[in-house]
Amino acid sequence: MPNPHILFTTVCRPFGGEGEGDSVGAELFHPQITREQGIFSYRQVVRCWALDYIAHNIESSSVVLHYPSEREFVRELKKHRYDFIGINFVVATYHKVKRMKQLIEIYAPDTKVILGGYGTVLSDEELSPCGDFICREEGIGFMRKLLGDNPEGPIMHPYAPIDAPSVFSYPRRSKVAHITGGLGCPNGCDFCCTSHFFKRKYIPFVKSGEELYGLMLLMKKEAEKAGDDISGFILIDEDFFLHEKRAREFLQCVREGGKPLSIMGFGSIRGLSKFTADEIAEMGFEVIWTAFEGTESGFHKLKGIQSIPELYASLKSRGIALLTSMIIGFPYQDKEQVMKEFNIIAELGPSLWQVLIYFAFPGTPLHEQMVREGRYLPKYSDNPDYRTFDGFSMHFTHPYFTADEMKNLQRELFRKYYETLGPSLLRNLRVWFEGYRSLRNSSKKLLRLRAEELGKCVRGGAAATYPAMFFGPNKERREEAKAFLRDIENEMGPLSAKERVLCWATVPLSLWTWMKSRLNLFQQPKLLRIQYPPTPAPRSERKAVELHSSFPVTIPAAGTTCPSYSCAVESKNAE
Ligand code: SF4
Repeated sequence: MPNPHILFTTVCRPFGGEGEGDSVGAELFHPQITREQGIFSYRQVVRCWALDYIAHNIESSSVVLHYPSEREFVRELKKHRYDFIGINFVVATYHKVKRMKQLIEIYAPDTKVILGGYGTVLSDEELSPCGDFICREEGIGFMRKLLGDNPEGPIMHPYAPIDAPSVFSYPRRSKVAHITGGLGCPNGCDFCCTSHFFKRKYIPFVKSGEELYGLMLLMKKEAEKAGDDISGFILIDEDFFLHEKRAREFLQCVREGGKPLSIMGFGSIRGLSKFTADEIAEMGFEVIWTAFEGTESGFHKLKGIQSIPELYASLKSRGIALLTSMIIGFPYQDKEQVMKEFNIIAELGPSLWQVLIYFAFPGTPLHEQMVREGRYLPKYSDNPDYRTFDGFSMHFTHPYFTADEMKNLQRELFRKYYETLGPSLLRNLRVWFEGYRSLRNSSKKLLRLRAEELGKCVRGGAAATYPAMFFGPNKERREEAKAFLRDIENEMGPLSAKERVLCWATVPLSLWTWMKSRLNLFQQPKLLRIQYPPTPAPRSERKAVELHSSFPVTIPAAGTTCPSYSCAVESKNAE
């Protein structure tokens, strides 16, 4: 088909409707991590980056919609003729795909529908009424094959930033750039859809540390061009540190570049143990999502060289905040055991935490086991309501808990963490403050520069102590907030008059945030519509980019060679 017109879209908003899992939507922190923290909850709409990546890597021009309303989706179908519509979804949003398919039949009956995303673990029988094609693999390669492009072509990384997380409705002007380092994970935890979707294979999007560093420089340049202020990067890679060679190359580049970075990434205890805390700090990690799961879960990823408390302490002392995930519902866990594990995590003191229910997701070994052993609850096996396939419900029998008891326990734990550890925002600032104090006299220049940056973050975030002093979950946490502000002032000097005004401004903003949440106002994401490429380049030019992409170029700042960097830059020029 010459020059096909393609629309890529997420499912339609609104999210969190009657019967829908409230953890499914356009945000990660608020529904899944800081969900019980009220006004202190982080708000950040993320993009479905898979769609941006695919659109950026095919020859045809396309449009990407993130979170359209039904009306906006219909308007798009009425206004433009599309040959293909690709819909990304998860199992819990499949009901929305069904509705979108109805709309497509009315407004674009000749358009072919492609289904993609982790929702495609459902059977052909269930999916085929809604899709002409089902993508159950890495999406760029799939679309290239479908459209007759070169499936082996290089992967280029779109500049697709999101707003930095905001709290108390405080408008943040800075953005976070995104890079996907790779898909899939070889660790193969039995419940993990991500890992088993790609058959425990890791598919690298970034092959070397030089390439990764070059991409970060490229993103900064793109941000400058767009007039964006980039405050950091989110690096999507399930276990970045497991790929030691690439991570060490990256570390070397950052050292040579001499400028501290700010990265949020993912790493297992096993992966993190391959590096010293200094090295991880030098790479620029400020927040790392890592798993604790359960003391007797036995996952290979949890085995490191150091003990977990030592690892946590060393990372935190370098200003690296931890986001820790816990699982409840392992067969060995009764209530007493769960509370024991809760206490261990509370003692480790992560800045952020997640508690999910051990979940038998279709396509995983755990799901097979539950079906084989006949432990799947009839409610979920006979006529399943997929809207609750989200890690916030238990779908099989458990020796100690009913499904409802498990759900209540999960809610209780989220709340208990908040009451025990306080708002995540303050915990993050506290870790960065410790990093600032311990690194400012480091013998390594890069770490001294990191300390400066951490210090600025702490000073800039000091205003958050005011809402915590007034509205923290209990007296102890409120006193802690007061003590923290005292520590900041002792270390960095008293707050200026302007800073005090800002502190007081957070109080009405907090009340406004509380009211919005109570009245369910402004809680949904807005439509983001992007044209790829912004000005369509002739196919012949885009071809030329690919042909030249294998020639390495030198990146002056890093002093290294990087084929994909050149490719991405040329691609942008071609656009
Ligand atoms: S380490 Fe994380 S991403 Fe990898 S298999 Fe386990 S749960 Fe999945």
